[in-house]
Amino acid sequence: MKLRYFLLSAIVAAAAHAATVRKSDFGKLADGTAVALFTLSNSKGMEASVTTYGGALVSLKTPDRKGKMGDVVLGYDNAADYQKGKSYFGALIGRYGNRIGHAQFTLDGKTYHVPKNDGDNSLHGGAVGFDKHVWTARELPDGALELQYVSKDGDQGYPGTLTATVTYTLTDDNVLRIRYQAATDKPTVLNLTNHSYFNLKGDGDILGHLVTLNADKYTPVDSGLIPTGELKPVDGTPFDFRKARTPGERINQNDEQLKLGKGYDHNWVLNRKGPGLSFAARVEEPGVSGRIMEIYTDQPGIQFYTGNFLDGSEKGKGGKVYQHRTGFCFETQHFPDSPNKPSFPSTVLRPGQKYDTTTEFRFSAK
Ligand code: BGC
Repeated sequence: MKLRYFLLSAIVAAAAHAATVRKSDFGKLADGTAVALFTLSNSKGMEASVTTYGGALVSLKTPDRKGKMGDVVLGYDNAADYQKGKSYFGALIGRYGNRIGHAQFTLDGKTYHVPKNDGDNSLHGGAVGFDKHVWTARELPDGALELQYVSKDGDQGYPGTLTATVTYTLTDDNVLRIRYQAATDKPTVLNLTNHSYFNLKGDGDILGHLVTLNADKYTPVDSGLIPTGELKPVDGTPFDFRKARTPGERINQNDEQLKLGKGYDHNWVLNRKGPGLSFAARVEEPGVSGRIMEIYTDQPGIQFYTGNFLDGSEKGKGGKVYQHRTGFCFETQHFPDSPNKPSFPSTVLRPGQKYDTTTEFRFSAK
């Protein structure tokens, strides 16, 4: 009897810690395909909504300093708008996050051509990247959401049939965890990430947020935003965010790299303490909300992009128009153009190897 009581209370306790998942309709694509939205909620009232279209994080409600929940990511209202979208709001990016120079790379002596969808370069996996596919969703017993997409051999020019599995977990201590797993049947290159645009204030521009990046170096770029190959110390440059600074403070400085990026649009080389999750970045909105986001990852780099290409031309959630620099991205990743840069950490995935990386976004307020 006692044992039964113990088991029962253990089950009840475990259930109390799992997020609850609600499934709803997110509209249809142009060809009539139905798209779903999954909303994960924790016991603190935090909510993360993810759509099967591109596996995009559609909304993320986190508490401000008064405990009031507010949405801190940019997005659209329905699947059709995501299909038309140009900015990769909240999307899962694959096969290759950020750019591959001249849209080609050589692997094991063979040259592969991928789509040129950004001048002479390939951006975010090509014209029809992982963000433009419907993923298969499965709710896991612990309240996490698992999404899967099988990218066929030759998809956007990349070799090997690749099975990608991404798991979104919302914990009771206000952590959104994203785990990326993949396997391939032929050697390929892979760099998965999430392209959420954050605004911890929920409105206006992001220039006054306080940003810390745990990086002594970054990868300067050429005019096509392809890394030159140099790992440049941030010391004495507007790229030094080792102590909290606002992007607004130096974004308009007369700096060649800032001009090339039209603001911050660069990869920082994260200081790492061995394998596993390391502190990557911290963002604080010191004004009305007091919201804080801390990012931990096992990836070597982070693309800090200040929404320089947002221009008010896209209608977002609730009719909101996203103006210049009203959201910023922190894309944990391998360095851009790694397939063409032997000195960068390798992005090659071979049959039998397991791709398995995790990034956490931890929320609080003060
Ligand atoms: C890139 C930007 C690009 C943005 C949206 C970022 O990851 O670095 O250059 O404009 O994604 O596509």
